[in-house]
Amino acid sequence: MRSDALRVNSPDFDATCRFVFELPNNEATLLPVASCITVRASDPESFKDAKDKPIVRPYTPISPPDLKGELVLLIKRYENGNMSKYIHSLKVSYPDSHHN
Ligand SMILES: Cc1cc2nc3c(=O)[nH]c(=O)nc-3n(C[C@H](O)[C@H](O)[C@H](O)COP(=O)(O)OP(=O)(O)OC[C@H]3O[C@@H](n4cnc5c(N)ncnc54)[C@H](O)[C@@H]3O)c2cc1C
Repeated sequence: MRSDALRVNSPDFDATCRFVFELPNNEATLLPVASCITVRASDPESFKDAKDKPIVRPYTPISPPDLKGELVLLIKRYENGNMSKYIHSLKVSYPDSHHN
């Protein structure tokens, strides 16, 4: 996961939030419904838990598999959750072209 790929972060309810990530080259994930992806840092050495193990967690995409350019995750935030707290802390960023 690239930390600068977050495009939308819309709170749904409680501690749960919908995260829209940009996909490279306007590609579609083409993931079948009910499959999950594993989320990890692009450099696993940079994101480890208290036991020095790289943090990797499965999430179930809620975007249609043929949606081009985006991957949407619905993620509940746990106060002590390594991955969910990190994802909820991400700032929305925009491609350079949006600033021109
Ligand atoms: C196949 C699969 C698909 C999944 N898809 C999704 C998804 O789409 N969206 C989503 O939000 N999550 C999903 N999960 C759960 C997700 O993978 C993580 O387990 C979750 O986000 C917590 O990870 P964390 O690193 O934030 O917390 P961790 O660092 O693993 O846990 C730290 C602390 O957070 C609290 N905590 C963590 N998980 C729970 C829990 N389930 N109930 C109560 N307290 C908890 C506990 O206090 C725990 O000690 C899925 C799990 C599986 C197995």
